[in-house]
Amino acid sequence: MSGPIHKLTPVLTKRWLSPDAWKLATYERLDGYAALRKALKAEPDDLIQLVKDSGLRGRGGAGFPTGMKWGFIPQGDGKPHYLVVNADEGEPGTCKDLPLMSHDPHSLIEGVIISSYAIRANFAAIYIRGEAVHAARRLRAAVQEAYTRGYLGRNILGSGYNLDLVIHSGAGAYICGEETALLDSLEGFRGQPRLRPPFPATHGLYSKPTVINNVGTIASVPYIVLGGADWWKSMGTEKSSGPMIYSLSGRIKNPGQYECGMGITLRELIELAGGMQDGHELRFWTPGGSSTPLLTAEHLDMPLDFEGVGAQGSMLGTTATQLFSQQDCPVYATYRWIKFYAHESCGKCTPCREGNYWMIQILHRILAGQGVKKDLDTLLDACDNLLGRSFCGLGDGATSSVTSSIKWFEQDYLDYIEGRKAPMLKPELVGAH
Ligand code: SF4
Repeated sequence: MSGPIHKLTPVLTKRWLSPDAWKLATYERLDGYAALRKALKAEPDDLIQLVKDSGLRGRGGAGFPTGMKWGFIPQGDGKPHYLVVNADEGEPGTCKDLPLMSHDPHSLIEGVIISSYAIRANFAAIYIRGEAVHAARRLRAAVQEAYTRGYLGRNILGSGYNLDLVIHSGAGAYICGEETALLDSLEGFRGQPRLRPPFPATHGLYSKPTVINNVGTIASVPYIVLGGADWWKSMGTEKSSGPMIYSLSGRIKNPGQYECGMGITLRELIELAGGMQDGHELRFWTPGGSSTPLLTAEHLDMPLDFEGVGAQGSMLGTTATQLFSQQDCPVYATYRWIKFYAHESCGKCTPCREGNYWMIQILHRILAGQGVKKDLDTLLDACDNLLGRSFCGLGDGATSSVTSSIKWFEQDYLDYIEGRKAPMLKPELVGAH
């Protein structure tokens, strides 16, 4: 096992800059669908074992081992099985799946076909965020090309295996990125999380065994089939294998997507991205989108993998690293994130529906110069009542920025409360959310 590769490691992004990368002709010229031909000659169970051996973990945030998830699908049950790709990327700052689908849609489609074959599914769906019109168009055109060429449909490449794939656009609700809300939405219902158990592995889409994986997870599969488990494990760390696409945004010279072996640090990513913008020094950042706790310059050397940030009480999340400088206010950033969560709360459970609403009122009051010291205790108390008491992860995730910003930047809150900092918001709008 080699250590982390601290440099760009283009695997999933390797075709992005090729002219017409999204077209089938380009994809085929650059090894496209070679993995499918190889996979169709293998036994489905051997493919599941290969993915287990590679150590591939879900790229959507939770990091669950992919091969193990596939192994939960009951075999020989005589029921239809389904594969659903979660392409509802909507976390603030997150931007890795949409560019992948726009630039290289066939890599996802090839991954879908191989993964569906492995779990013995004959129907698959890609659920894409409603606002991602451009990526959805690219995907639909690529699916059409794949049908025409015999990669989808009946008797794929003469193997006897059949698969239909549909692209389903959501209607712009962040909660539909939660896998069971996604299933409800796909079935035509209002997207709200389902009670678990039963889990999607046995009762998923239309109550049938279903695997739900993120775009990056499924798009990794063809590379593992071609390169092998050992090659995949040669990138990243022992427990976080393979490359990962990190999105950098905020006060950085060259924002964008950087694919590196897992375990890279923010310090190295900043270096790859040309450094911080002139006149800006890192003050706080998110390791994986707004649902992960804020970190500070003290954490620049923490490995960005499932273990490194996890050991710091944080998590890898969606690898959306948003960078803020001394010119940015952690209290205001937190307020904006909580506004997002309050807006996107589906309203099913009280802690999240009410808690986020009240946290906005308090944060607004503080930013309007009308806060009192006790407001910080009230905010932390509200977080206590959301974390672990919400029906799904949205409520839990909403607390991260509040608790961490108070932990690291309590003085900023007190500066507003005690009048040392000018109000950022107008008091008359408190309560108008
Ligand atoms: Fe809905 Fe929020 Fe409850 Fe999740 S935590 S079910 S988003 S109200």
